[in-house]
Formats: sequence, C-alpha cells, structure tokens
Amino acid sequence: MSCSTSEEEEDEGRDDYRKGGYHAVRPGDQFAEGRYIAQRKLGWGTFSTVWLAFDTTSSIFVALKIQKSAVEFAQAALHEIEFLTAIAEGDPSNSKCVIRLLDHFKHAGPNGQHICLVFEFLGDSLLRLIKYNHYKGIELSKVREICGSVLLALDYLHRELRIIHTDLKPENVLLISTINPAKDPVRSGFSPILERPEGNPNVGVVANTNEKNLWRKAKRAVAKISERRQSMEGISLQGRSLERIDVRCKVVDFGNACWVDKQLMDAIQTRQYRAPEVILGAGYSFSADMWSFACVAFELATGDVLFVPKTGKGFDEDEDHLALMMELLGKIPRKIATGGSRSKDLFDRHGDLKRIRRLKSWPLYRILVEKYRFSNTDAREFSDFLLPIFDFAPEKRPTAEQCLQHPWLKSSNLKPNHENGDVGLEKLQSGMNQLKLKAAT
Ligand code: ATP
Ligand code: MG
Repeated sequence: MSCSTSEEEEDEGRDDYRKGGYHAVRPGDQFAEGRYIAQRKLGWGTFSTVWLAFDTTSSIFVALKIQKSAVEFAQAALHEIEFLTAIAEGDPSNSKCVIRLLDHFKHAGPNGQHICLVFEFLGDSLLRLIKYNHYKGIELSKVREICGSVLLALDYLHRELRIIHTDLKPENVLLISTINPAKDPVRSGFSPILERPEGNPNVGVVANTNEKNLWRKAKRAVAKISERRQSMEGISLQGRSLERIDVRCKVVDFGNACWVDKQLMDAIQTRQYRAPEVILGAGYSFSADMWSFACVAFELATGDVLFVPKTGKGFDEDEDHLALMMELLGKIPRKIATGGSRSKDLFDRHGDLKRIRRLKSWPLYRILVEKYRFSNTDAREFSDFLLPIFDFAPEKRPTAEQCLQHPWLKSSNLKPNHENGDVGLEKLQSGMNQLKLKAAT
C-alpha cells in the first residue's frame, strides 16, 4: 500500500485513469449535486485519489476520497464505509481519535461509478512527521502524547466496537493539523474555488445555472456561519499549544479492518508491524494491533523502524523477522513457536529456528541507551512501557485500556480531540472570512 502526498514524491501516473480506474478531477469540479467542489489534490493511493474539497453546505474544507470504479475497489470502499459508519455512530462527540467519515455517495464519470468518501480534513501522517524530523526521533513528551491518542483510539475500537484495525503503522495515523501551515487551507487563508476556472471545457449553460445555485448556497452558508459565530462569541481562542507542532492525531484507514469474530484473512498487517502470531499462523485478536502499536511507539522515539526483516542465504523474511524479535526480546517459548500452522516451516521441534541458528542478543533497554543515547531513566521507563506489549503470548499483552493506565503515559496531560474545540472554531471563522472576501469581489 503506497501513497504519497506531495510534489517531491512521484504521482499516481496516468495509466490508472481508465475504465475501472481513477476518476480524473479538475479544480472546480462538483460532486454530490454541487455540494462539494474540488480544490486541489491531496494525495493518492492504490485505491483512490484524495482531493481537498469545499463543502458548500457546511462551509468547511473536507478530504474527498474518490475510489477507482472497478468492482473490487467499490467493494473495498463499501467495506471501509461499514466500519467508518460504526465508528462515527459510536462516537457522537468525535473525541476518540479516529478519523470521521462525514458523508459518502456515488459519482458517475467516464471511467465508471466511483464511490466517494468525505472525511474531515486532516494533516500529515506520523511517517511524514518522522521524516520531517530527519529520522532523529521525536522528543519523548510528544511521543507520549501521540501514544495516548493512538491508545485512546485502539481502546475505543477494541473494547467498544470489537474492531481490529490490522494495519496500524505511522502512515495510518494522521496529525490533526498539517506540519506546514501553508498546506492548511484555513491557516494559509486559501480562498475556496467556487467556480470552474476559465477554459474548463465542462462549463456550459447547465453549469452556469448550477453555479448560480451554488453561489446562493455559499452565501447562505456564510450567513449561517456568522450566526454560529455570534453564538460562540464567548468561547476564547486561547489554549492552542505554544510548541510549534500540534501532535494531536487520529487513526485512519479502515480498508483492512475486521470484526474480531468475523475475520476474513490470515495474513494481516504491513510486514514491519506484523505480530509474531500472524507470522506463525496461530490466529490473532486485538493484541495484534497492540504489537503494531509498540513498533510505532519505538519508531517515533528513535526515528528507526524497529524490525526490518530481509531474506538471506537459505532463509526467508519470516524467519529473519522472528530472529530479529528474539534478538530483542528473548527466545519465543517453545509452545508458542511450535503452535502455529506455519510453525513447521520455521521451527524445529525444540523450538529453535531451522535456518538461523546464531542469534545476537541486544535487549531493548540496551539498544535505547547504546544506540539511541537515551538516559538510563528514559530507557528504563520506556522499555518498562513497551516490553509487556512485546510479549510473545498475545493473551498476556496489556490491552489498550491497561496501557492507558501505565505510569509512562501519566506524565502527559492527555486530552481527547474535541471537534468543536479551538481548531474547529478557528477553521469556521477563517472559512467565513474567505467567503466574505470572495462575496465582496
Ligand atoms: P492505500 O490503500 O494505497 O494506502 P488509498 O487509496 O486507500 O491508499 P489513502 O492512503 O487513504 O488512499 O489516502 C491517500 C492520501 O491522501 C494519503 O496519503 C494522504 O496524503 C491523503 N489523505 C487521505 N485522507 C486524508 C484526510 N482526511 N485529510 C488529508 N489528507 C488525506
Ligand atoms: Mg488506504
């Protein structure tokens, strides 16, 4: 699953803009009978392109994900909608640190019918945050804060909804705000495009009537926002973090999610974040997400991916992966090592790897001190937090709820992300000013 957000990375190419593939979009294009207007492309993935769009009904910027049209992509979108709907229904105050689906609809285009998902607009992924920081590792107070948000999301998904995410990784956690304020349409004072730019061949008589309607709608929206602002006048705008980067974040991408009692696949998770029981074919549950979570926490704090398995002479990635785990965490108990459907390929009957015989032990605490120059206290506290999650026995791993009680997190002041908090108001006001400006010209 690859995706990209910015001009310095490769784009989605032209090949997939064909029947069954992507829908070509231009700024100013309308969706859902003119409710959403495409502004600029935010990114793309194997399944979709994602556009910044302006919602003329609620006068906010949203992320519009336009799925490829072939039946398998449509099915994948419907699968994701099933989970996102349950997530939204169970969290009316939008405070559980999970992406919010605002709307969905079908859009017919030359390449077919595309299912479109409308999400709240979010910022960069944790992967981009790690890159932005030149892979140096993020300061522990921020790591704590991020871990708190992710755990809040996992606790909600696991305990309240019985959902396993199955693909937790830095790319799938998005910051609420963009790192670069210029990329945020609100903070950068971006005026929404309400009309198609000149020269767009789709503009005709019908479009003009549409545009008039749209214009009326937008004006009504401005009036609505002013009303709302007056009623919110008492709420102050203070309280925004003084540190440069806002690390409040949300878990995204439910394309591979499953209900705990309705699992569809044996092979889950992106390689580096894959739990040992998944490699061994021994079944999985919520605790597989916890394993990935601990890998993400390590990566945030150090800037390095914890497990990077490679195929070698006579052994495959799976065997190398298990060897790396054992070097860090000790031997996998024999019963666990030999208990999966794939165990016979990997372990002998004593519980030793078949092809990788010599393991160099380098425990987590020592890695943190020796390689990453953590202070003894930081290393002790952080490994006390992580090691129980890295238990080879899935049922012994602490749950997200239990992790939230861990003293390592306690020093952070965790606040849930409230939709109607300061950021929301700021967006609303700025959006309104933009519209006013536009209306005046
Ligand atoms: P894949 O499954 O290959 O990862 P996909 O087709 O499912 O890709 P996403 O990964 O969900 O697509 O999204 C593609 C890109 O769009 C992301 O990398 C991100 O840059 C951007 N994006 C997605 N959702 C949002 C959002 N809510 N706010 C801002 N940008 C977003
Ligand atoms: Mg995806």
